[in-house]
Amino acid sequence: MARLSISEASKKQGEKVEIAGWINTRRNHGKIIFFDVRDASGLVQVVVTPKEEESYKVAEKLGSEDVISVVGTVNKRPAENINKEIETGEIEIVAEEINLIGKAVALPIPIEGDGYDVEESIRFKYRYIDLRRPRLQKNLKLRHQIVKVARAFLDSEGFTEIETPYLSKTTPEGARDFLVPSRLQKGKFYALAQSPQQYKQLLMIAGIEKYYQFARCFRDEDLRADRQFEHTQIDIEMAFVKREDVMSAVERLITFVVGKIGKKIEKKPFPVLTYKEVMEKYKTDRPNLNKNKADLSFAWVVDFPLLEKTDEGGYTFAHNPFAAPKPEFVDSLMKEKELANLQSLQYDLVCNGAEVAGGSIRIHEPEVQRQALRVMGYSDKRIDDEFGHLLAAYKYGAPVHGGIAVGFDRLVSVIAGEENIREVIAFPVTSGGQTSVMDAPSEANPEQLKDLGLKIIEKEEKK
Ligand code: ASP
Repeated sequence: MARLSISEASKKQGEKVEIAGWINTRRNHGKIIFFDVRDASGLVQVVVTPKEEESYKVAEKLGSEDVISVVGTVNKRPAENINKEIETGEIEIVAEEINLIGKAVALPIPIEGDGYDVEESIRFKYRYIDLRRPRLQKNLKLRHQIVKVARAFLDSEGFTEIETPYLSKTTPEGARDFLVPSRLQKGKFYALAQSPQQYKQLLMIAGIEKYYQFARCFRDEDLRADRQFEHTQIDIEMAFVKREDVMSAVERLITFVVGKIGKKIEKKPFPVLTYKEVMEKYKTDRPNLNKNKADLSFAWVVDFPLLEKTDEGGYTFAHNPFAAPKPEFVDSLMKEKELANLQSLQYDLVCNGAEVAGGSIRIHEPEVQRQALRVMGYSDKRIDDEFGHLLAAYKYGAPVHGGIAVGFDRLVSVIAGEENIREVIAFPVTSGGQTSVMDAPSEANPEQLKDLGLKIIEKEEKK
């Protein structure tokens, strides 16, 4: 007999079916044993009577979270036993054969309830159990739905999904790099990509015109509710565009996705506010314009400063070093005049007080790019070492281009109504940076270190 999912099986009234899943709860009613059995598709009541001697013997020894398979007949429940709370509440499966597939000892964390109050390190150590709770199952499925409709939308607009390397060279996005030592070239390192930024710009020079990628980005920075060491972006880049073209493409993408998921957007088209306005009015560049908690309030913020002052009195980039100044400020940049007042072609998308996307039109002229890096304190040597490849590429015919990255974990969490992005990530790291279940970082063995030509000179004792 072929196993059916619980939702399929429950439609086969009067027929014999086989299901498999976890025992959600067990109740005894006189001599009769009731199980609620759960699989990915739903929950169903299984009844075992002493008449079925063999099954009854097995059933007596079963408890919560044991994995079983059941062969039985799908019967309509007597009227007084109908349970309106569950989808399969009108039927039950009367067991004829029960097999124990996997015994479960007592769970280290409860899976009833939303789980917010269970200590994070324990939730993540046993994430495979934590993920059994319906809230997280729902979040993972929602994430999948959003991926699916976003891909369909981008495909319909003529975008090509292209993967770019994760093992790469540093690309500044304002965080520390994760370095990966090279075995073949001892003493040299790759950096895990903080974003596909330079590759997607190179793809524009390569003539792709409309690129996207569900890209993982790696940034070694302090962890917060909306930050993990690795996060996913819907990374986008377009050639021959103005800032409004990119904003409009993303607005259409978000409107399409949110519509398919069945949520409401408070105001369309999304309001466009300037950086100056939001800083004066809301004292933050991520204003929360939301009036009704159930809806999503998107807004664009534009006209950001190109540069930010550093603590040392110099300047650094406000978005990333590739953001183009507005055309009327290019001259001042080249002449290093009024650097604090230069505005860029950056745009951020905020939703309910969270930044969910950010991007810019890029510099595409090598001399302007070199000058932007110079005012950010890079020496010509460092510019050549770190960005020589990009400056060289610009010399071979570069289109005007711009793009954006949608912080995918944040987008899913605002749509799901979750405050912390870890609630929409299958295996997040703890706020202390420990991975779920696998307990990394951990020590490398001496052989591995030798292969890489590395020696640990200072070890931090685990607290
Ligand atoms: N690479 C940028 C980021 O990760 C996004 C962009 O400018 O497209 O924030």
